[in-house]
Amino acid sequence: MPQPELDILILGGGCAGLSLATRLSGAWPRVGVVEPRSNYVEDRTWCHWYTDPHPFDTCIRKRWNQWQVSHNDNMVTRGSMALPYVAISSAEFYKTALRHCEDGNNIRLWLDTTATATAGQAGSWTVDTTRGRLTARILIDARPPRTPPHYGQFFRGVEIRTDRACFDPSSVGLMEFRPPHADGIDFVYVLPFATDHALVEVTRFGPEKPSSNLLDTWLDAECQAHVDGAIKTVLRQETGALPMEAGYGVAKGPAHGYARIGLGGGAARPSTGYAFQRIQRMSDRLAGQIIGTNDTPWLDTRLDGAVTRVIDRLFLRVIRSAPEYGPELFFALFTNARSERLERFLSGSVTTGDRMSVITSLPPVLFLRAALGLS
Ligand SMILES: Cc1cc2nc3c(=O)[nH]c(=O)nc-3n(C[C@H](O)[C@H](O)[C@H](O)COP(=O)(O)OP(=O)(O)OC[C@H]3O[C@@H](n4cnc5c(N)ncnc54)[C@H](O)[C@@H]3O)c2cc1C
Repeated sequence: MPQPELDILILGGGCAGLSLATRLSGAWPRVGVVEPRSNYVEDRTWCHWYTDPHPFDTCIRKRWNQWQVSHNDNMVTRGSMALPYVAISSAEFYKTALRHCEDGNNIRLWLDTTATATAGQAGSWTVDTTRGRLTARILIDARPPRTPPHYGQFFRGVEIRTDRACFDPSSVGLMEFRPPHADGIDFVYVLPFATDHALVEVTRFGPEKPSSNLLDTWLDAECQAHVDGAIKTVLRQETGALPMEAGYGVAKGPAHGYARIGLGGGAARPSTGYAFQRIQRMSDRLAGQIIGTNDTPWLDTRLDGAVTRVIDRLFLRVIRSAPEYGPELFFALFTNARSERLERFLSGSVTTGDRMSVITSLPPVLFLRAALGLS
């Protein structure tokens, strides 16, 4: 049998594909990355609580030590010095990842190239692409999810500059809840980079993607409410549909010479949709399993243990079955839980102390009623 031309083939050079390639740079011969786009532009901002260092620390464009959540006329301001909320510039991320790949001399990135079919097994994968056929020993699929989520986080945002001071750059507007309703949980997210510069985003947690028209109208109204006609420039727009489903894309167990990573591989925390930090963790783990072995390894991408999965399932059940309680529950959670424990939990912490802090901060009667579907 002819030897595969590549050791590792990564399908998709987005956040997860490039995060893994960065770890493999210089460490492993013959890595290929196949990516349909022809160039990389600033297409999103990734935010997360800074719980662990990663190779993209230099791409952080802003840090905040405070965040706010509001519901009706109540607002809570929380935060911590130890775990800032940070924003990663995607333009810098792509630049940094491409530099790592180039420096390693072992990574070939094919832009303008789409994978169209895959076949084979561990040790001998064949991938048809718009540029021809590629073969590899290990296949990493970092393409987006194949199916839309049954429950998800749907959002649209604009990064704007204003002609006067409209924002408080010291505090992130994490969730400004809008009136509860049966279709989902609505809130506005404001990421203030400066007094005259912010990303304003409207978000719904719900079973169905809201229409483009609804998101546009809602976003226009929120921009108007936040800056009262002061928009000078719209710098860019972003739209997303992130899965919020327990078990979505998560591998059942280790797979031989194959892994699905990124959003399609269960990287988004089911109860929050946060994925960036988890993609970094997944990449570290996979690189650890790949580097240093000449055999075709078994790859295990699972991030969450049984208890975390149960908590996520319960939480999702509550917000799905009783969205009208959602704002009140989130507000209680963000008000009562200890900041650092909550921040770690939302980022995917698996420690018992963090979990207990979160569970005991929820109003028990309201939580039980919602969990049991009682109104
Ligand atoms: C606008 C936006 C904002 C977000 N903000 C945050 C945030 O603040 N914090 C957070 O934690 N998460 C955030 N997320 C969620 C998540 O972190 C991102 O979606 C992240 O980019 C997911 O990485 P990924 O590699 O799975 O997908 P992507 O980065 O989308 O990469 C998938 C890649 O696969 C390529 N591809 C598609 N089809 C093929 C094919 N047939 N063959 C080969 N390649 C293919 C695509 O071109 C793409 O480059 C955000 C998502 C979006 C969309």
